[in-house]
Amino acid sequence: MKKVIIIGGGIAGLAAAYRIQEAINQNAQVSCTVLEGSDRLGGKIHTIRRDGFILERGPDSFISQKPAVVELCKKLGIDSHLMGTKTDHPKTFVYLNNKMITIPDGLSLMVPTKFMPFITTRLFSWPGKIRMGMDLFLPRRRCNSDESLASFVRRRLGNEALERMAQPLMSGIYASDPETMSLGASFPMFQQVEKKYRSLVLGMLAQKRKRPTTPNPGKISSYKPFSFFLTMKNGLSEIVETLVEQCPNILFRTKAQVDILRKTGNSWRIWLQTGEELEADAVILSTPANLTARLIEDWAPSIAARLDQIPYVSTAAVALGFDRKTFAHPLRGFGFVVPHIEKRKITACTWVSSKFSGRAPDDRVLLRAFVGGAVNEHLAEQDVETIKSQVRQELREIMGVTEEPLFCEVFQYKKGNVQYQVHHPQLISEIEKELIDFKGLYLAGSAYKGIGIPDCVKNGTENAAAALEFLGVKAEIGQSSTH
Ligand SMILES: Cc1cc2nc3c(=O)[nH]c(=O)nc-3n(C[C@H](O)[C@H](O)[C@H](O)COP(=O)(O)OP(=O)(O)OC[C@H]3O[C@@H](n4cnc5c(N)ncnc54)[C@H](O)[C@@H]3O)c2cc1C
Repeated sequence: MKKVIIIGGGIAGLAAAYRIQEAINQNAQVSCTVLEGSDRLGGKIHTIRRDGFILERGPDSFISQKPAVVELCKKLGIDSHLMGTKTDHPKTFVYLNNKMITIPDGLSLMVPTKFMPFITTRLFSWPGKIRMGMDLFLPRRRCNSDESLASFVRRRLGNEALERMAQPLMSGIYASDPETMSLGASFPMFQQVEKKYRSLVLGMLAQKRKRPTTPNPGKISSYKPFSFFLTMKNGLSEIVETLVEQCPNILFRTKAQVDILRKTGNSWRIWLQTGEELEADAVILSTPANLTARLIEDWAPSIAARLDQIPYVSTAAVALGFDRKTFAHPLRGFGFVVPHIEKRKITACTWVSSKFSGRAPDDRVLLRAFVGGAVNEHLAEQDVETIKSQVRQELREIMGVTEEPLFCEVFQYKKGNVQYQVHHPQLISEIEKELIDFKGLYLAGSAYKGIGIPDCVKNGTENAAAALEFLGVKAEIGQSSTH
């Protein structure tokens, strides 16, 4: 029987395992082990359920427009637990010049697609709005090479759109610096829109007209009204827990840190930190790129050197619980982002209990503030007490939160957030070309073709399908291979 070993039990590795379980369900003759170094599965996905609160250490939701997670939830039978954002106050704010300004309706990431909200917003000055409007007349870029998000936004919409919108959103979502962030890897649709329609505004409007009222009709029907962000009723770890339960033929091993990986003849040999030796016909490495590099550098130094060019930055999320009765701020919205030009320490704050139902008991509120990321990562690497006091001070100054929290917990991710820098797509295609020489070896996870959870699920699934195909395992392969 052919054997697959998956190294890394984050969502990409688990999605790969589930694809192999599906093949086994169809009588494929293959065995599979997941080796996870830490004492738990899920990697960055880590929900803590405590005293009626649902706290997410890492990701708290995923975008609904990429269908991989929704499809996985359907297969796992937990799609009825998918949950969109609350509908009572669906607003997000930008904290600018000591004021909370609502992100205007119709702003598609940073491109205005509705006239009145754009004209009346206080987020942009008149010269800023006129500069954004020039997008309608500017020519398209001739060159096809990648560029930074900052260069793209400055070129099409001007500096104000970058400083007040693109930068805080990118910092909030990707912990990234738009000056170094790859447009091609992170927002390929903007490149395509410019190529096809020349103007971003006209292109986004044309796409909006074509789009059905709910994307993927039929697929997302169970959680109407449509929500851009989705999460799980019991927290994102619900996906991990259910997936593992529904993989009875996969051996999941925690505290199984892999130290050495080598190819001998036609098979792969793996040594754990404990000295135990394992053998496999195919290996899926779903560890972060910088750790993957350490496992392959002795025999694939060129790929390892390329993997080392994919940087990671540190972030910290600070969860604060309060008694609702004594909490003065009305929390009418999902939270706010803070532009770098404001020179604050926090980059964003989610009003979690106002954004999603069931995150806190009815008589409590839950906030989550963020520090660090590419622009200020040293702030996330400070000691926990310093981070707590800086966040509380900023929430006092920005939101007037003087109440004593019931708890204040810091979740640090040191070098935990992967960054797609300019020319990332080229780097990945070079890695894929070199990987062809290493038959039976697959690289999966957030470092390659998408950072979000849906991308990781898709990527893990595709790599497992490719491994099964390579092994000649007879089972219906639903996805196309990545190399
Ligand atoms: C703070 C934070 C917030 C985020 N928020 C969102 C969000 O809201 N929405 C969204 O879509 N995405 C979000 N992301 C991104 C998303 O969570 C990650 O990209 C994704 O979860 C990564 O999954 P992965 O399987 O690629 O890697 P990981 O989750 O990092 O899993 C890799 C696993 O490999 C294990 N490992 C490492 N080395 C070894 C070894 N030698 N042997 C065995 N095991 C090893 C690790 O312990 C880990 O469990 C966020 C990320 C972070 C850090």
